[in-house]
Amino acid sequence: MKKEYHIDKIFKSRWEKKILDWYSNNKRDLPWRRKENQNFYRVWISEIMLQQTQVSVVIPYYNRFMLKWPTLESFYNAKLEEILFLWQGMGYYKRAENLYRAKELLKTKKKITVNYKSLLEIPGIGDYTSSAISAILFDEKCSVVDGNIRRILTRVFNLNNNDNLYDKNIRSISDYLTPKRKNGNYCQSLMDIANSVCKVRNPECKKCPVEDFCLSKGIKLLLTKRKKTKNKIAIAFIINYKNYFLVEKSSKKLLKNLFCFPLSDSKDIDKNFIEDEFLDKTVNHWLKIKKLKVSYKLAGKVIHKFSHFQLKVLVVKLNLKSKFRLENFFWLTIKELDSRPVSKLFLKIKEKMK
Ligand code: SF4
Repeated sequence: MKKEYHIDKIFKSRWEKKILDWYSNNKRDLPWRRKENQNFYRVWISEIMLQQTQVSVVIPYYNRFMLKWPTLESFYNAKLEEILFLWQGMGYYKRAENLYRAKELLKTKKKITVNYKSLLEIPGIGDYTSSAISAILFDEKCSVVDGNIRRILTRVFNLNNNDNLYDKNIRSISDYLTPKRKNGNYCQSLMDIANSVCKVRNPECKKCPVEDFCLSKGIKLLLTKRKKTKNKIAIAFIINYKNYFLVEKSSKKLLKNLFCFPLSDSKDIDKNFIEDEFLDKTVNHWLKIKKLKVSYKLAGKVIHKFSHFQLKVLVVKLNLKSKFRLENFFWLTIKELDSRPVSKLFLKIKEKMK
């Protein structure tokens, strides 16, 4: 190991001991860590849910998922719409779609091999998830590095995240420090330390088991440059005929397969943007291509944050005197809509129905 990181065999064994001892006394009691949940299916679902989502948000979703599909065999019968329905509100819906694709693949296999290399073939499982599952279940000696573990290593070894060799250095440090035994406890300990001690803001260095090794203790490093949030705008159409509302099964990337009110394409908001002009032009264009002749009313505005941009939605209402048919669009009552998978954005727009 490179000298500048002051890592040698003695360092490695002390580091490992500190981390494993800390875990024995401080590990979080999480549903997927319980003994009865230590199998591939249950750890896999937890790891997919934990991608980009906080533990406190995941717990109720995980518990509901396990009640509905307690085993992999029972999950084999799940429909995509059912998975999305259970997933609604958790975001990153691509994960639900990948789970569907993954279980369709798994049910064709006679045997599922759980190791780092084999798991990479399953849709939705990348480097981190594959190594985490293999380490947690079988203590496989594979380096587990996510954003949280990366933060600890960056701080301990005072790495510069703007350095071209940053990723390579993180990987080589992590590879070197990965223990031969108990890698499952080791990586889960690092996850817990990152969550409760070495937090993004205000790390609690006095409580940290690796404080003695840390070159940047007490320095509040900002590890990511904050990107300026992009602002976009779109129009949602609440179109009703008697008790029915027109909804579509979205083909938009972020909301794919979720039911939503018709939504126009979005536009970036720049300094020359004029909202009224956009509203009028977009609504009239949309009505024209859908061959609708009807006046509209602005019912309100909602703001929704996606991971990399903020979307402002102008909600317009249209009352029709007759129904019409459009491919991929459905006329549903409010009650029928309640049993379809929808996004948080949809629920915000729905509020403007009143
Ligand atoms: S000593 Fe502080 S900065 Fe260093 S790893 Fe621990 S909590 Fe993070």
